[in-house]
Amino acid sequence: MTSTPSAKAAPLRNDCFALPKGVHWTPVEEALAMLRERLAPVTSSEVVPLAQACGRISFDDVKAKRANPPLPNTAVDGYGFSGGRQEGEHRLPLVAGRAAAGDAPVSVPEGQAIRVLTGAALPDGVDTVILQEDVSVADGHVIFQGALKQGANTRRAGEDVKVGDVVLGQGRHITPADLALLAAAGVSEVAVRNPLRVGVLSTGDELVEVGSTAGEGQIYDANRPMLLALAARLGHRAVDLGRAPDQREMLKAMLDAAAEKVDVIITSGGASAGDEDHVSALLDKAGAMALWRIAIKPGRPLALGMWQGVPVFGLPGNPVAALVCTLVFARPALALLSGGDWSTPQGFEVPAAFEKSKKAGRREFLRARIRNGQAEVFASEGSGRISGLSWAEGLVELEEEGRDIRIGDPVRFIPYASFGY
Ligand code: AMP
Ligand code: MG
Repeated sequence: MTSTPSAKAAPLRNDCFALPKGVHWTPVEEALAMLRERLAPVTSSEVVPLAQACGRISFDDVKAKRANPPLPNTAVDGYGFSGGRQEGEHRLPLVAGRAAAGDAPVSVPEGQAIRVLTGAALPDGVDTVILQEDVSVADGHVIFQGALKQGANTRRAGEDVKVGDVVLGQGRHITPADLALLAAAGVSEVAVRNPLRVGVLSTGDELVEVGSTAGEGQIYDANRPMLLALAARLGHRAVDLGRAPDQREMLKAMLDAAAEKVDVIITSGGASAGDEDHVSALLDKAGAMALWRIAIKPGRPLALGMWQGVPVFGLPGNPVAALVCTLVFARPALALLSGGDWSTPQGFEVPAAFEKSKKAGRREFLRARIRNGQAEVFASEGSGRISGLSWAEGLVELEEEGRDIRIGDPVRFIPYASFGY
């Protein structure tokens, strides 16, 4: 395997998360547009064999080296000859032998026919094939009724892919089907991005590690296992950065160490403007922070900033808000940083199985699932209700405007799977 690391991508600007002055509650769409505009790939590349390319991101456009099909061939088992036929009975002498898939093309004289099997390259002198079910064979002849169009039951060379066609665009998250296409197009190795190293750090004095004994006033760190698994599932290399106490010097040291070994840092907790909100305080002091007050529910401010040249996504601590903000904002941002395409999750309009009076202002995401073709939502909207995250199979997205939702009204449901979750 060859390996040609690309030149290091241009660093992100330190002010890449800065917001226009005077903006307080940024609409979700605007926040997404800013991320999309300002973020760029930070990963290098390598060349891997086809068999290792699934799940990776293509580094540049990949062109076909071979046409598919490479030669004109037969789409069915039958008999091949030259030219179409009018109405009426036709009787053609059969040449000896047959053409099967993988055989080198032979030659068939005008007015004669040859036995052909699916996938066989068309012999010279054959451009039309009749299905074996539509003929009888007797005395070394094939007999059938017309009419039949010239070219029937054949595939043209390159009708699927031509040499030089772009079979895979740059930034594509490579799928199993893509491997089939690349193989057919004669591509045996692909330049792909190296995985984005996503560090996940929890913050808060109240947190203890699952598996240890939690004292009074303590809670288990629920965000870190969730966010590490999510980063991995989105195709990135998840790096566990541990837990930081609500203590500024310690957090600073942990961020310094993290910046040495990851491409992006996701923190949860401590992102607002309170006394113990050390993530936002540190990023702010570094002069490269923007507190994104996004008009979203659930979700308090997101602290976005740069730490030693590494982008930091400071998520709210509440697990529900942490997950929703990751899916909505961090997911597409990480995709861009990793060299992939920007993508908008596919939602579907379905009838609501719930009633809700939604206030105008924020875009809301409700924990939801589909039952009997309708969107059910979790009984409580409380952002500490982790059980609802696990209960849900997706999110209902309600736009910024106020709305009285009645049972049966259409609402937009986004399955978790649409996020690549
Ligand atoms: P914060 O954003 O730090 O003010 O935290 C908001 C709420 O989320 C508090 O109730 C925290 O205890 C809780 N929280 C913060 N981090 C975590 C975590 N890693 N796991 C579970 N709950 C958390
Ligand atoms: Mg906290």
